[in-house]
Amino acid sequence: MSGQNKLLNYNKYRNMVVGVNSLVPLDNGTYTTGVNFDNAATTPPFISVEKEVHNFLPWYSSIHRGKGYKSTVSTETYEAGREIIKKFVGAPEDAAVIYTKNTTEAINILACSMYQQKDGRDVVISTWMEHAANDLPWRDKFKVEYVEIDRYGRLDLNDYEEKLKKHQGRIKLVTVTGAANVTGYLNDIYKLAAFAHKYGTLIHVDGAQLVPHVPVDMRPADSDEHIDFLSFSAHKLYAPYGSGVLIGPKSAFEEGAPYCLGGSAIKLVTHQRIWWEDVPAKFEAGSPNLIGVVALVTAIKTLNKIGMQNAYEHERSLLNYAYGQISIIPDIRLYSHPDKQPSIGVIPFTIEGVHHSLVSAILSYEAGIAVRNGFFCAHPYCERLLGYSAKEIEDIAERKALFPGLVRASFGLYNTPAEIDRFTNCLKLIVSNKKYFINKYGKSRGLYNIRNEV
Ligand code: PMP
Repeated sequence: MSGQNKLLNYNKYRNMVVGVNSLVPLDNGTYTTGVNFDNAATTPPFISVEKEVHNFLPWYSSIHRGKGYKSTVSTETYEAGREIIKKFVGAPEDAAVIYTKNTTEAINILACSMYQQKDGRDVVISTWMEHAANDLPWRDKFKVEYVEIDRYGRLDLNDYEEKLKKHQGRIKLVTVTGAANVTGYLNDIYKLAAFAHKYGTLIHVDGAQLVPHVPVDMRPADSDEHIDFLSFSAHKLYAPYGSGVLIGPKSAFEEGAPYCLGGSAIKLVTHQRIWWEDVPAKFEAGSPNLIGVVALVTAIKTLNKIGMQNAYEHERSLLNYAYGQISIIPDIRLYSHPDKQPSIGVIPFTIEGVHHSLVSAILSYEAGIAVRNGFFCAHPYCERLLGYSAKEIEDIAERKALFPGLVRASFGLYNTPAEIDRFTNCLKLIVSNKKYFINKYGKSRGLYNIRNEV
């Protein structure tokens, strides 16, 4: 990790991000430069995004129906964004890019559209490693089959193929995360796509954790490895202004009513009938989030300059460095295996004898380091990784006992080995002073009570 070139490189990315030098308070009354290792939840904006939003605001105006000059500029910017997004992920030229507020909304739109196509296909294949956003929208509409995971928490490809075989002809869609938000595991989406197509179905990739960290290519529609649908959020991609996207073939969205109803989605309305707008406008009811689109497109341009392969390799080297450091600390248990599965920069862990919620509180109050803890909205996956059955978890919930959970450190482009050193030093401090910290934050200080959070 040392060496002048590497250090220069880390600083180069660091200078592209807003707020990396913000001071945060510590428990002892002093301030320190905050470390953000919670990038899987959300990322800070690129400086380019902050500037472009600022520069664009004087041109901000109503879009689509306005005839004023600023309205024309705004409309062109909004529509041109779709092409830039398509190119970024290698979407086919005729694919629809539907602007959404985030991945969650994108998947809800997709599930709602799929549900309205009444073709007798009633099964959706999902997996054990999904975020709730890619699980719950399917549950009330389809019979959901969850592909098994192995003892390392990786997808079981044999079980995937068995499920495809078993339900062949009834499967509406395979819906799978590109990268798991708990373990960081990268699924081989092209292989999963080839299998899905072999068994006559389509695939949606939840790209929330994938697109910000790894080069993605949806590949041509006639390729076996084509990704039919892709969703992702701008706020995890250095553009936190409330936008996201759903990409897929126009034809898949033409049937039925949109998920959200209102103005902009309509061509004509009488009290007797509604003529819906063409896709994608049909799915963008209400006044659109133009600033969110400006931010997302600017972040994409910045990532294009960096190069997504460079971004992936950079974050991978941070991951390897952190793993090497953490794995030798006694009493720390790691729940992912980046040596066994390609991964983005995510490290899930626990410290023996210290509650996950307390570990994240200590990291923040003692060292100014932000991480996340709990089940990260991927409850079944975390329950399995920690070895709990659904019944045991229900019992814990009913007894209102302290919830089990994990601590997750997740890296972005701008993080550095020096920050990882600070992190591992604090972990060592916690491990060797468990009683002291449990007493200081867990027991005697109401302010820092362990919250029962998942
Ligand atoms: N899928 C995955 C894998 C995620 O990690 C997240 C966010 N944690 C989501 C979907 C939902 O994204 P959003 O909250 O931006 O809708």
